[in-house]
Amino acid sequence: MQTKTEQTAAVANGPIGQMGVFDHEQVVFCNDNATGLKAIIAIHNTVLGPALGGTRMWAYTHESEALTDVLRLSRGMTYKNAVAGLNLGGGKAVIIGDARTQKSEALMRRFGKFVNSLSGKYITAEDVGINAKDMEYVHMETKHVTGIPPALGGSGDPSPVTAYGVYVAMKAAAKERWGSDSLSGKKISVQGVGHVGSYLVNHLVKEGAKVLIADIYEDRLAEVKKNNPAVEIVDGNTIYDQDVDIYAPCALGATVNDDTLNRLKCSIICGAANNQLADEVKHGQLVMQKGILYAPDFVVNSGGVINVYSEVAGFGREYALSQAENIFNTTANIFAMSKQENIPTYLAANKTAEARIEAMASIRTKR
Ligand code: NAD
Repeated sequence: MQTKTEQTAAVANGPIGQMGVFDHEQVVFCNDNATGLKAIIAIHNTVLGPALGGTRMWAYTHESEALTDVLRLSRGMTYKNAVAGLNLGGGKAVIIGDARTQKSEALMRRFGKFVNSLSGKYITAEDVGINAKDMEYVHMETKHVTGIPPALGGSGDPSPVTAYGVYVAMKAAAKERWGSDSLSGKKISVQGVGHVGSYLVNHLVKEGAKVLIADIYEDRLAEVKKNNPAVEIVDGNTIYDQDVDIYAPCALGATVNDDTLNRLKCSIICGAANNQLADEVKHGQLVMQKGILYAPDFVVNSGGVINVYSEVAGFGREYALSQAENIFNTTANIFAMSKQENIPTYLAANKTAEARIEAMASIRTKR
């Protein structure tokens, strides 16, 4: 028989113990032998509303990796949705498997049934490895899904709204750093010119910025160069060494790390990529010490979730863009808090999210 201490330790190391680390409300493990579905849905916090966050399909090498990922990502959604001022909590789902070889209509529809079983407490959307067609299958089994094609009443590609939000956040950062929100004449490197990066480049070029671009795919670079002949293509390996005013990571996470912080010469970091700081606490502090103004990723890239929220709240693209405009003020307020309290900007953003959740939790019980 286990002692009480052994029982406590076993819980602490298991999935329920891990849920306790960031106070997750509910985690649903989904299995279906017939379709091969193995998925985890994590609901972090529903104080502000139903937990919204995308579904990622990834070939995790171990279940524990999938659990860690879904717990981390769902918490991130709570913070993103809270700071964006949306009436949404945070959630996320992961499907364990290779998106190129293991996806099928039956698997996605079975997953849709699991989402439906949560009766709207979790609302799903697209993420890495999942496309609009997959969401159509999910939509056949549940109405608790966003990011479906416009033809089915969805809001379509969120990238233009995300890019617009990053652009206005960059202007807020410029104002904070140089006293003017103009980006004209500023040298800006954009790492990754995919969906978001390419729309961002359009805004920057239009405003008269000198834009440097890097991508791992030649065709992406060629297309962006064709649309904006003034941009300069740089080798991806040298992107961190460029003498620029602003570095805009729009490809991968964790690009702000021990190595790159020794190389970056920029005054501002502001881009669309999720989880830019390899280690939030360490590198969030280091950017501050180095005098780089870091615009927190989940604040500046919230245009995407603002766009999908339009499906939940029933408003259109125009209104979504006007809501994304608020990202300028939200980012500016976070810089102000960071200065006032002498704390890194990522921490100011986290505190802003936590304050809103706490305030809304306190009015919940009132009649
Ligand atoms: P995407 O896949 O369309 O574009 C990413 C681009 O980065 C691709 O062109 C890819 O070739 C390039 N890339 C990959 N590795 C690279 C490297 N090492 N160096 C240079 N380029 C590289 O993705 P996206 O939808 O544009 O999203 C970009 C980032 O923004 C992602 O981190 C995503 O999670 C985040 N984000 C996107 C949205 C959205 O609305 N699409 C919303 C919020 C956050």
